[in-house]
Amino acid sequence: MATVIARNAALLGVRCRACGTLQPADTRYVCAECMGPIEPEYDTAALARDGTRARIQSGPQTLWRYAPLLPCAPAPGAWPTGWTALVPVPRLGAALGIDDLWIKDDTRNLTLSFKDRPVAVASARAVEQGCTALACASTGNLAGSVAAAAARLGLPAYVFVPAETEPAKVMAAATYGATVVRVNGSYDRVNRLCATLADDRSSWGFVNFTLRPYYAEGSKTMLFEIAEQNGWRLPDHVIVPVGSGALLTRTATAAAQLVATGLVPETPMRISAAQPAGCAPVSDAILDDWRAVRPVREAKTIAKSLAIGAPADGDGSVAVVKRTGGSAASVSDEDIVEACSLAARTEGISVEPAGGTVVATARALARRGVFRKNERVVLYLTGNGYKQGAAESLPLGPAIAPDVDEFLAAYPQARA
Ligand SMILES: [Zn+2]
Repeated sequence: MATVIARNAALLGVRCRACGTLQPADTRYVCAECMGPIEPEYDTAALARDGTRARIQSGPQTLWRYAPLLPCAPAPGAWPTGWTALVPVPRLGAALGIDDLWIKDDTRNLTLSFKDRPVAVASARAVEQGCTALACASTGNLAGSVAAAAARLGLPAYVFVPAETEPAKVMAAATYGATVVRVNGSYDRVNRLCATLADDRSSWGFVNFTLRPYYAEGSKTMLFEIAEQNGWRLPDHVIVPVGSGALLTRTATAAAQLVATGLVPETPMRISAAQPAGCAPVSDAILDDWRAVRPVREAKTIAKSLAIGAPADGDGSVAVVKRTGGSAASVSDEDIVEACSLAARTEGISVEPAGGTVVATARALARRGVFRKNERVVLYLTGNGYKQGAAESLPLGPAIAPDVDEFLAAYPQARA
């Protein structure tokens, strides 16, 4: 094992979620005792004493303002990432039947998806560890994020995606100079290929394998920002899209750390899961009386970024939703397309189908009566619609000559 790398004084080490052993935060990425998943652990009692809120508030307007609760320092020269807007969406709320609806807008993150958050932390860690390349298995957004980060840090990038990934996402990654490897088969098969490669390319930083404990930490910053932007209070309810489940489970971790460090009062926050019906291993497990997650062999959905049939944090997600009193929905592709359009029409925000999945889930939960009166609900919108066309299926009016009469004939709704 390499030497301990711990630039954050509050980082105590990494704790195994299976056997509970606390161990050094070196280059290990699974538990040395039992191969279980490991997570960084912080001295929250010390942070609670040390004026952490003031440190955060005087920090940069990036996710690195939460450095006291992150495992490493930013990579020198990395692009600023995070600190995206939390905004009320009253028209969308009215359309969905939710009194106090907000969105966390990660469609406007660095490469237009929330994946910039985990990649910011994983790539910083990769630099600390002296990795010679960045790599990942991706359903699309992560590929672009890793490619951009690697270019900025002067490292080569190898990104592996299912061959069916949306061309716009493949091209985005290729534009940043990454080697884009399209693999025939599902994301889960891409994942297995990367796991094998990660074993014998120890100098590469596979952000969602060999750097996974650090990668997943970046996902916490979504809720850190929401809490601060909400006046240092947890919202009542968040609705989170579920692919691997890392974002949902780390939302719970983030809430616990905010409370433990005294940054927010301890108030209940429900966490609900959003998945497309064509790949809903977590939502189905929740709705089927909280049973164990069963892998989905063949994902079939327009929400490709959520098409992970065997989610690494699947059972963990079910447990979090149950513990917080949340709920779940699995929504059809038709509902997802309609929800993308609804968000765009009512609030002027373009989301990819993963965002449509969240909006459609909010509608399904509202219809089921899950929300209480005046409950503050925050939707996680994690990817931009420009990268992928839910809009491609929209009917457009005819092209016309540059002539007013022809315009009014073709578009009678514009007549005065
Ligand atoms: Zn263990």
